Amino acid sequence: MKVMLLRYTTDAELLCGAAALTSTKSGTPSGFLKKIDSETAKRIIKRVVGYGHASVIEHASFTFSIEGASRAMTHQLVRHRIASFTQQSQRYVTYDTLEKYVTPSSIENNPEARKIYDGTLEKISDAYQKLLNLKIPKEDARFILPNAAKTNIIVTMNARELHHFFNLRCCARAQWEIREAAIEMFKQAKKAAPALFENAGPSCVELGFCPEGKMKPAECNIEEIKKQFRSM
Ligand SMILES: Cc1cc2nc3c(=O)[nH]c(=O)nc-3n(C[C@H](O)[C@H](O)[C@H](O)COP(=O)(O)OP(=O)(O)OC[C@H]3O[C@@H](n4cnc5c(N)ncnc54)[C@H](O)[C@@H]3O)c2cc1C
Repeated sequence: MKVMLLRYTTDAELLCGAAALTSTKSGTPSGFLKKIDSETAKRIIKRVVGYGHASVIEHASFTFSIEGASRAMTHQLVRHRIASFTQQSQRYVTYDTLEKYVTPSSIENNPEARKIYDGTLEKISDAYQKLLNLKIPKEDARFILPNAAKTNIIVTMNARELHHFFNLRCCARAQWEIREAAIEMFKQAKKAAPALFENAGPSCVELGFCPEGKMKPAECNIEEIKKQFRSM
């Protein structure tokens, strides 16, 4: 899977800083945007978002390309409703690329499991091709395709939604593939606009405690996780 930040709002931090000033000072958004410097933007964003006025960071949006992910992963991704998506369609695109499916490492590293997995997926692939040869439309032949099928998707989220997405999906409780994507998205978004993602990360990093209760994984050490994400 490949994750790439394709585009993001120009001067995202200055824009959100100008939005924050708009709410607390007399003056116009355009006037604030002309004058604001990055230190002021950083300070005001931290203060305003810190007291819960998070809508100011909704003005910055980030668009990612996620390539070669499984359908199992994208099915989870598209549950995030405050986002925009465009996904490769199995109605139009034939399942015939060289690398057709994703293999989880638990299966990859177990020769017996790998044999079952590859054998089953090859059978599915053959059956799919036979259905197409029988002139069954792609939109119907795809009914036999697996969760492992590779797909490409483009996703746009604003910075507030990204914070929420990172809370849930950078967490050790998230499924490995969406977690890998979320951590990569986190790194790239933070590099592009550090002031908007200073305290971002899984819930424990942003909230300071784990909201999972009894479900908290035993291996999680919040202080260690905080250090990890703050240094990314
Ligand atoms: C570890 C984990 C396990 C999961 N397991 C399951 C599972 O077993 N089965 C399952 O079906 N899903 C599961 N999910 C998906 C989960 O239930 C959410 O659908 C998904 O994480 C999207 O979260 P969200 O709704 O908060 O986010 P978004 O859709 O991005 O929404 C962001 C926020 O906007 C607000 N919002 C959005 N839409 C509405 C609305 N209609 N009404 C009120 N407020 C709204 C909420 O505050 C929401 O938190 C799991 C998620 C995780 C992280």
